[in-house]
Amino acid sequence: MGRLDGKVAIITGGARGQGADEARLFATEGATVVATDVLAAEGEALAAETGVTFVRHDVTDEDAWEQVVADTVDAHGRVDVVVNNAGIYQRKRLLDHTVDDFRRMLDINVVGVFLGMKAVAPTMTEQGSGSIVNISSVAGLLAAPQSIAYGASKFAVRGMTKSAAVELARHNVRVNSIHPGLIQTDMLDQVNEGDTTRAERMLAAVPMRRVAEPMEVARLALFLASDDSSYCTGSEFVVDGGVTAI
Ligand code: NAD
Repeated sequence: MGRLDGKVAIITGGARGQGADEARLFATEGATVVATDVLAAEGEALAAETGVTFVRHDVTDEDAWEQVVADTVDAHGRVDVVVNNAGIYQRKRLLDHTVDDFRRMLDINVVGVFLGMKAVAPTMTEQGSGSIVNISSVAGLLAAPQSIAYGASKFAVRGMTKSAAVELARHNVRVNSIHPGLIQTDMLDQVNEGDTTRAERMLAAVPMRRVAEPMEVARLALFLASDDSSYCTGSEFVVDGGVTAI
């Protein structure tokens, strides 16, 4: 028996990295998975590998969100889980950031999560059940050096998660945030920008002295998506090898 048997899950940013591993794990645990992303080739490859449905979808597009939810309900009758995982990173100091950079970061990392929650809330409240998992970061808990826009976006995800959790709790719809540390994906390569000294410095700040595989975040997302976390809402779940313990 799978831990997500009978559940229908939408995972954004599902074509690669953590989202792709969440799609793989959720499907293995019995869920019907709709993975969405702007990366069509990678998304189609994941669909061919795993049998999950891939939909090309930009999380900043409100109409596209309505369509993804409507199509999922038409095809599968319900939506039990949404993982708002899609995100971008840019390493820039305060004085180097343009307003356009800053707005783009907020558009994808914040407005994208807001639209995902807004699009799925009517279906979940009508069902009287649901779990929304928003991917923030340790940068939503602590200062992220040279990443002011990213930090702003991930603090916002943490705050929106709590507001939505309180609002939706009486409908048995749970909303939680995950705060990953250093996870081995394309995004981490962007953080390091090929600078091995920087990568070593960052690793030295991790008590467990290693980066995580994306599947280690997926396993936490599985817990929050499943009924194992039935009394958890409005909470922050950290998966960071001890970084924020210091
Ligand atoms: P990744 O870059 O491999 O994955 C991000 C995915 O989001 C990509 O597939 C990308 O195409 C997609 N995406 C970007 N903009 C989009 C848009 N407008 N619409 C739809 N999809 C879009 O990196 P990842 O590490 O798998 O990132 C997943 C999440 O984890 C992100 O929210 C990221 O901020 C967060 N995170 C990552 C780390 C890390 O160390 N890798 C640490 C903390 C938090």
